[in-house]
Amino acid sequence: MPILRIAVAKPLRTTFDYLPPLDYDDASVAKLQAGARVEVPFGKGRLIGVLVSRAPESEINQTKLKRAIRVIDPASLLSKNLFELCLWAAQYYAHPVGEVLTLAFPPLLRKGAETTAPPNAVKLTPEGRLTPQGILKSPKQAALIDRLQTQEATRSTLKAEGYSSSIIKAVIDKGLATPCRIEEPEFSPSASDTVPTLNSEQHHAVEQLSKQTQFKASLLYGITGSGKTEVYLQTIANTIATGAQAMVLVPEIALTPQTAARFQQRFGATVGVLHSSLTEPQRAREWERARTGKLQILLGTRSALFTPFYRLGLIVVDEEHDSAYKQQDGFRYHARDLAIKRAQLEQCPIVLGSATPSLETISNVNSGRFERYTLSTRARAASLPSWQIIDVRQQTLRAGLSEALVTACHQTIDKGEQALLFLNRRGFAHTLLCHDCGWVAQCDHCDSRMVIHKRHNRLRCHHCQAQKPLPKTCPNCQSNHWQGVGNGTERAELALQTMFPDTPIYRIDSDTVGSASQLDDVLDAINTHTGCLILGTQMLAKGHDLASVTLVGIVDTDALLFSSDFRAEERLSQLLTQVSGRSGRGERPGTVMLQTHHPDAEIFRQVIHQDYWETAKSLLDARHHSGLPPFGQIILIHADSKDPAEAERFLNSARHALSSSLPANHLLIGPLPAPLSKRAGKFRYQLTWLAPHEKNLHRFANEIAATLTRLPHKHELSWAIDIDPQDFL
Ligand code: ADP
Ligand code: ZN
Ligand code: ZN
Repeated sequence: MPILRIAVAKPLRTTFDYLPPLDYDDASVAKLQAGARVEVPFGKGRLIGVLVSRAPESEINQTKLKRAIRVIDPASLLSKNLFELCLWAAQYYAHPVGEVLTLAFPPLLRKGAETTAPPNAVKLTPEGRLTPQGILKSPKQAALIDRLQTQEATRSTLKAEGYSSSIIKAVIDKGLATPCRIEEPEFSPSASDTVPTLNSEQHHAVEQLSKQTQFKASLLYGITGSGKTEVYLQTIANTIATGAQAMVLVPEIALTPQTAARFQQRFGATVGVLHSSLTEPQRAREWERARTGKLQILLGTRSALFTPFYRLGLIVVDEEHDSAYKQQDGFRYHARDLAIKRAQLEQCPIVLGSATPSLETISNVNSGRFERYTLSTRARAASLPSWQIIDVRQQTLRAGLSEALVTACHQTIDKGEQALLFLNRRGFAHTLLCHDCGWVAQCDHCDSRMVIHKRHNRLRCHHCQAQKPLPKTCPNCQSNHWQGVGNGTERAELALQTMFPDTPIYRIDSDTVGSASQLDDVLDAINTHTGCLILGTQMLAKGHDLASVTLVGIVDTDALLFSSDFRAEERLSQLLTQVSGRSGRGERPGTVMLQTHHPDAEIFRQVIHQDYWETAKSLLDARHHSGLPPFGQIILIHADSKDPAEAERFLNSARHALSSSLPANHLLIGPLPAPLSKRAGKFRYQLTWLAPHEKNLHRFANEIAATLTRLPHKHELSWAIDIDPQDFL
């Protein structure tokens, strides 16, 4: 009797054997495709699983096998390539295959829904069509019936015409109208978009990239504002002209509303955008449009990578260096790396774009695996901004701002231009300190200090959900001589308001801007001003095109000079290059002022005096010497427990169990407490496996997973494996 091997979305590193449903004979079982959804009994309930393979028989006694309940889609909805990508990713990241496969389905389908698109419109029933005028008491309902006599209409159209959901519901309830579906027009390019003429470097890149029909990975290395997006747009235009589809990954759509808008303006309704504020039916619909070839371009964040396509012809990964591509919990995949694997499976070209490529990607260019295309000049502005270092040692600072920077802001605003201040810390101050006894506000659940949020009069922990009111007096000595240590954007904003009483000030951080549309509004508002001040965190470093900014002030990035993370210098040079790239994007030249207590730091000298590629080269040399990525590979093993001794003990036994299989040129380091040694009430330990670059690293990863699965531990202890970790916190 043939059996079905089913993966379910549980943290279990195995598939489960089931007998086929009763209505499936051997012949129909033989036709089932891997990737098909199958509903199965599981424990006391039922689950939607995915068929991984069929087997002639099970190792388990047939009388003990349960029978699958139903096959939802006999033909797999996932393309063969996507199914293979999921299996490959589960292997590579040593992650339960059921959880990986689940990602390839939108939430509605994970719950077993059919793929048919949900109704989005209403039309009259025969009764509705025959309803005599004047018989309905409600004039609104009568008007709606009248309106629908000429043509069915989508709910959104009707709403725009003033028919509320309750009116629509009322006529449906009376049996006069019924829900139906209207397909939106598939192609409606907006006539307003003008396509710029490419410069010669852009032209060369588009021409070469458009020629590729097989797998080929390329890096589009273009300085900030050099017109990378324009290269994507025109290459994609060529791809879709051949009837193929394109997938575009971006780090975070909420932070880059302008990018999505540019794609839609150029290509109209043929672009699908997957973002976090879509409803489940909307998400399922975009997925279905990609799968059936109804949309030509899909723009989305990292999980969009797992969307099936009818005919994928090109993958673009914008800002490929961005760490948002790495998922930091659960299934810890790197979307850029998996995108390359996917392109290989789909036999299509892939373009990674960045002004500050990751060292991994640069190393792939150096070894000849990736082709490099360069955009070395700004598309609109004359040149890159000029730099100035402000040595803030012994200077009086106001909310972290030096006299020189404040003066430069005044001059910029007086000229009718905009200044942007970058401060990568939100809140008022980093923490609260008692001036009399030295007590500091520590989070009760984490090994970290609580941040002062003055507007809400609260202390908040940025690592867990904890918050409490600002204390009136010191819990230790009852004094009320408080000091706020360190500067956040909230404090800088207050200081700027007193220094620039007549200037509009925009603060952009996750406390003030919660959604893409809010960010869009703020960016629009900024563009209506001449002189104004913009203040914000990391959010500002992303690819916004603010044409009137001519001064960028980098308030404080010194902490990154002393980080223990081996990527700190790479991140710092990327951050400085990206933030400075917001200056002088329009016609007028830009300046960058960098405040620091360490004006002689080598990394500042490099970023300022040479191009990013040169800086990256010297960072790569250092990595080479230390055997760190991309020259080595890391597997990070985490254990979190309420009891620090239990976490350490677990990793010690893991180390013991693993050392026999450790090859001579590999290294196990730890267990050591994580840099953030306690979070949300759990103590965190790490064991690090350092290997030379290894084609078969996943073999070790899966062995580690198997070993950890066998090791006994307290129920509340949780462990995880992170392959190619980006974050060591
Ligand atoms: P990047 O993605 O490299 O930051 P963009 O593609 O956003 O750069 O381009 C920066 C600005 O220059 C945009 O406003 C864009 O419309 C404009 N631009 C790009 N290419 C050209 C070109 N060839 N001619 C004129 N303007 C261009
Ligand atoms: Zn005190
Ligand atoms: Zn906390």
